[in-house]
Amino acid sequence: MADCDLCGVGRPTLCPVKVHDPRVKTQYPAGTWRNLSEECLNSCYEANVSKIPSDAKKCDLCGTRDEAMYKVDVSVPTFGEPYSRAETRAICESCLAACEESYNRRQAEKEEGHHH
Ligand SMILES: [Zn+2]
Ligand SMILES: [Zn+2]
Repeated sequence: MADCDLCGVGRPTLCPVKVHDPRVKTQYPAGTWRNLSEECLNSCYEANVSKIPSDAKKCDLCGTRDEAMYKVDVSVPTFGEPYSRAETRAICESCLAACEESYNRRQAEKEEGHHH
């Protein structure tokens, strides 16, 4: 079980997204991995299409500051009714691109699955 880095939902499998976290750039110049639930990955993919600007100062995925951020709608799990809450996250352009890449890879995997 692992937790989604965006909404915190626990899932047996998550979708890896490669981000460039400025805080660990020297240790990991090629980028580090974040894990997103399929729902969040879909939301990020949609956010990359709609590109709604956010005034957030920090990217919720890689921690980059003072860059253009875009809004991503996520559903955060809660313990009481109705068991989830709509929230908005902010993600930088480079993370959106990384999500798009991961999303496309995921779709390709699914396609692959249908053929076998
Ligand atoms: Zn999530
Ligand atoms: Zn980012």
